[in-house]
Amino acid sequence: MKAWFDAAAVGLYVHVPFCASLCGYCDFFRVESPGGVPVGFEALLVEEAALFGETPPLQVDTVFFGGGTPSLLGPDRLGRLLAELGRVFEIRPSAEITLEANPETVNEASLAGWRQAGVTRLSIGVQSLTPGVLAALERRAPAATALAAVELAARSGFKHLSADVMSGVPGQGGGDLEDTVERLAELPLDHLSVYSLDLHPKTPLWEAVAAGNLTLPGDDEAADQFLAVHGILQQRGFEHYEVSNYARPGGRSRHNLRYWQGGQTVGLGPSAWSRFKGRLWGNPRSLDAWTRRVREGGTPPGDAERLTPEREREDRVIFGLRVSDGAGLQDLIDLFAVDQREADVVLKPLLAHGYAVVEDSRLKLTVQGFLMSNEVLTYLLPRSWPRARPEA
Ligand code: SF4
Repeated sequence: MKAWFDAAAVGLYVHVPFCASLCGYCDFFRVESPGGVPVGFEALLVEEAALFGETPPLQVDTVFFGGGTPSLLGPDRLGRLLAELGRVFEIRPSAEITLEANPETVNEASLAGWRQAGVTRLSIGVQSLTPGVLAALERRAPAATALAAVELAARSGFKHLSADVMSGVPGQGGGDLEDTVERLAELPLDHLSVYSLDLHPKTPLWEAVAAGNLTLPGDDEAADQFLAVHGILQQRGFEHYEVSNYARPGGRSRHNLRYWQGGQTVGLGPSAWSRFKGRLWGNPRSLDAWTRRVREGGTPPGDAERLTPEREREDRVIFGLRVSDGAGLQDLIDLFAVDQREADVVLKPLLAHGYAVVEDSRLKLTVQGFLMSNEVLTYLLPRSWPRARPEA
């Protein structure tokens, strides 16, 4: 399998948790902050980055500003933050630097400023171009603003441009999703993410559905939408390279592929995860607790998980089955603790139902398999427990 990242470098994720208002479905760690990103937040990020200071400095070949709404930082503050991070890490000139942007923060001046600051890739949170769907999600930007943001970003010369779209939203039917995807695919985007709504308990949207005020699309409708979107995007030259992600040639997200291929990442900011030097840990989902951890120093923290070879293998299989490159058969055989003949018996139903194929010694899910990916993983993974999780 081609590695989509350089193992000698790390990926840097920076979580900026502030949002102008909160969307009713969201379960990310975020804080409502109509006044923007509080002064002093970047200094804490730089303080945390310094915990990873090394001589020579760590090489970074992808940076991802996520949130929250990191585009609330504005070009000047983002540029200064990148420059400060560049004093701790060696951010390669060829690095992919992604900024998540909400449509209402996109205008000609901000686009020019972000490019000037070093951002190479913009990911715009559109979610839908249907007013009723945006209302159910409590999104701030109306459809016209979202579409105008993507058009403006495309015209401004961002070579790498992505949009996020959401499926499985209450009230989304009658071709709404397909219409959104078709209109976006007409634009010069090189990447589109189509995430299925995950209804998180206690969110306002979850409460509205639980109270019977809104109804989720049924499984059959969701499956039809998934296959329709797949067809539309394939026709428009997009490759379905991950369960929820499509890219035109050269448009795959290098940063996210690093996660899916088990590469090293350093996470800065509350709730950010790091996978670094054989350890895995998440930062606290609280500004105060995260600030205390930064001030106390010490990386990795005492509660970081040690990544055993078994855990690394299991992650390679789980993440591998999410991407079109698939999971290595040898990893599966080791994970099952079986021989090739027994592995063939386990895999036979998946191949017979057309959920997967074996190519180049890798098990790759088909589009039908992507559609059923949770079921496929549930089918496969208990088989690894006797060996990979001896304590279970
Ligand atoms: S979906 Fe994005 S903009 Fe909305 S609350 Fe969550 S992080 Fe903020």
